Amino acid sequence: KIEVSGLRKSFGALAVLRDINLKVEPGQVVALIGPSGSGKSTLLRCLNLLVMPDGGRIRIGKDSFAFGDGSKLPATREQARFRSNTGMVFQHFNLFPHMTVVQNVMEGPVSVKALPKPQAEALAGKLLAKVGLSDKVDVFPNKLSGGQKQRVAIARALAMEPEVMLFDEATSALDPELVGEVLGVMRDLAAEGMTMIIVTHEIGFAREVADRVVFMRDGVIVEEGPAREIIGQPKQEATRIFLSHFH
Ligand code: ATP
Ligand code: MG
Repeated sequence: KIEVSGLRKSFGALAVLRDINLKVEPGQVVALIGPSGSGKSTLLRCLNLLVMPDGGRIRIGKDSFAFGDGSKLPATREQARFRSNTGMVFQHFNLFPHMTVVQNVMEGPVSVKALPKPQAEALAGKLLAKVGLSDKVDVFPNKLSGGQKQRVAIARALAMEPEVMLFDEATSALDPELVGEVLGVMRDLAAEGMTMIIVTHEIGFAREVADRVVFMRDGVIVEEGPAREIIGQPKQEATRIFLSHFH
């Protein structure tokens, strides 16, 4: 479960997130949509503390942090623990080029959670099977297609056994013919009950897989609701205009 309240973030004079309030129930899939620069990536990065918010509160599972207004910044170790609640998948895969596929997936559990290597390898093998890459375990990333790389990145994020998965345009950098295999893995995760926030321009996928759609513009949530409602019959003019670009 995720609860965000009163979240604020500025970069210099630019207010990028302005009083963001958002709840995601366990097992829910939320699609976050909105124009370029509306603050979608910044919001995901705040949930992962890759960006430190200026104000507000974030709760993920049992862990909660308040920001700004005199509240102390979390200590490094608490930040690391909080961060491990979320698995993040980016547009660019950021795999370690000098490690094989299985080593990429084992790295987090071994180095962050001190999981013994045999167990980490077994876990990695299981996750690579789940994303359909059992035959690529010992291959280096430069031998993989973009879709395969992104599926490794998903397995790597899952290896930390996060409470929620955050996807930031996970398919935007892929050749069109490779998008489907990655969306398929995301669809399977959703069906298994993983709590997910997905930033995506795949509006069809959002309508089909997401429980809720959140539309952001200029750092605020303009409109949110059931996926079919928001995509099918948006109430706000700004949402309508945004969605009209996809038809
Ligand atoms: P896109 O759809 O293009 O990915 P977005 O909704 O993800 O857009 P963000 O990346 O969150 O938007 O950026 C929101 C605004 O914050 C933009 O104006 C961006 O230039 C600015 N911004 C983001 N990160 C930084 C940073 N580290 N320093 C300064 N400005 C930033
Ligand atoms: Mg972005």
